[in-house]
Amino acid sequence: MTNITIPFNRPAVVGRELDYIADALRSGQTSGDGRYTKQVHALLENTLGVPKALLTTSCTHALEMAALLLDIHPGDEVIVPSFTFVSTINAFVLRGAKPVFADVRPDTLNIDERLLPDLISPRTKAIVVVHYAGVACDMDAIMTLAAQHNLPVIEDNAHGLFGKYRGRYLGTFGALATQSFHETKNFTCGEGGALLINDIGLIERAEIIREKGTNRARFFRGMVDKYTWVDVGSSYLPSDVLAAYLLAQLEQRAAVQARRRRIWTLYDECLASWAAAHGIITPTVPTDCEQPYHLYYLLMPSLTARTAFIAHMKAAGILSVFHYLPLHLSDMGRKYGGQTGDCPVTEDVADRLVRLPLFNDMSESDQAQVIERVRQFVP
Ligand SMILES: *Cc1c(COP(=O)(O)O)cnc(C)c1O
Repeated sequence: MTNITIPFNRPAVVGRELDYIADALRSGQTSGDGRYTKQVHALLENTLGVPKALLTTSCTHALEMAALLLDIHPGDEVIVPSFTFVSTINAFVLRGAKPVFADVRPDTLNIDERLLPDLISPRTKAIVVVHYAGVACDMDAIMTLAAQHNLPVIEDNAHGLFGKYRGRYLGTFGALATQSFHETKNFTCGEGGALLINDIGLIERAEIIREKGTNRARFFRGMVDKYTWVDVGSSYLPSDVLAAYLLAQLEQRAAVQARRRRIWTLYDECLASWAAAHGIITPTVPTDCEQPYHLYYLLMPSLTARTAFIAHMKAAGILSVFHYLPLHLSDMGRKYGGQTGDCPVTEDVADRLVRLPLFNDMSESDQAQVIERVRQFVP
């Protein structure tokens, strides 16, 4: 076993995290929706221009809230890319939905909008899109099609906070969007997420669902004189201590994004000729997308080459990792009828994609070591 000296990811303290966490503990309120939570809500709403942001305990839980808000019932169909994390669809399956898996585009690895017309049926209740690596889906085509069929779009924007499509922030297109603040994302509080609400008709019910099905939020605003059980719901509020951690991270967004941009761009510049010489593909970022530099990946020529590459990096103490396995071929996906050949692009790229270390406090010398080792690889 070689010791890993350069991890794939590592959470970093980037600003006033420790001060804010201590302050939250001393303030006397550590439960949800305290001072720090309100500041994070305001920061997200003002920066992105969304009508409502609600912090949640995870992106998974924000997706579960979306499924509850859209009244997903058994028998409903939800369209989702096969190349994504389980939570993107599991949240809807929990309400009884049948997943309808869409293949991805070979360039951006985002849901292929050209396939959507054939996947929409009278039972379709929603389209869930994922901006892979924070590079936007073709939102013009997707939103136009969704409007024609009167279908809500949910953006799983776990990778894409502060990314843009045609100058507009990701997470502001769909009726709902979800963010993740898991340790592996650009901004973190360990475990956390947010629901962004663009359809203002869903705001009041979202507050109720997030507060155990009660009208507590309206009670605190003095809009009702007692607080009681009014709907279904659960407990999706993170502690204000986590919001304090997250606020400190988000305050440093300009510095964090600048650092990630530098790392991503250096990979792309230094690996271009090596990749081209060996039939290895580097990421495609269409000109109408501003990406938040969430991850840097390579598409190897084959599964064998990828396996050899990961071993080659590991032998030098560097962790590189593959990504999603096709959901339609998972044990659960097969229960819904998924078969080999359904999503050929997903099946192909899932075998060949590998991600390089990229984290907020990655040193220049660590990155130089990664680049040197990568260039020694011949598939
Ligand atoms: C990380 C991630 C999630 C889950 O986020 P959690 O906050 O861990 O629940 C969902 N979707 C995508 C695309 C992700 O990358």
